[in-house]
Amino acid sequence: MNDPSWLQEEQAFSLLALVVATEAGMREEIPVGAVLADPVGRILATAGNRCLNPVDPSGHAEIRALRLAAARVGNFRLPLARLVITLEPCPMCLAALSMARLECIRFAASRTQDGQDILQEHANASAMLLRDFFQPKRENKNARQNQTQE
Ligand SMILES: [Zn+2]
Repeated sequence: MNDPSWLQEEQAFSLLALVVATEAGMREEIPVGAVLADPVGRILATAGNRCLNPVDPSGHAEIRALRLAAARVGNFRLPLARLVITLEPCPMCLAALSMARLECIRFAASRTQDGQDILQEHANASAMLLRDFFQPKRENKNARQNQTQE
C-alpha cells in the first residue's frame, strides 16, 4: 500500500474510475465508477453503475467489476486484487467485496460528507459528478410536486 508505484497506479485508476463514472452518468445511471486491478497493476475490470439498463438492483459499479474480474480469472475469490471506486461502497457492495476478499478498497468520495476522503484530489470531482447528476432530478421532482399541489 505504501509502495510509490501503487500510489501512482491508484491515482491513474482513480482517474479511470472517474471516466467510467462519467460514462455511467451519460447513460442516466448514478455516476459511480470502479476499477479492479491485480497485484501487479493490470486492470482486471472497469465498470460503471448499470441499474437501469438492464434493470438490475445489484448493478452497482463494484458488483459489476467483481463479476467481470471473477469471470476473467475464473475464481470468485480475488484475494490480491485492489479496487478503486469513485464513491464509498454501499452495504450491499461491501458484503460482496468482503466475499471476494480483496487486498484493498480505495474510494474517492465518502457517502457521509464528513467521512475520510482517501483520494482527496478526485473526491471533489466525484462529489461534483454526483451532485450534477442528482440536482436536476431533484429540481424536476420538486417541480412535479408543485404542479400536483396546484
Ligand atoms: Zn453498492
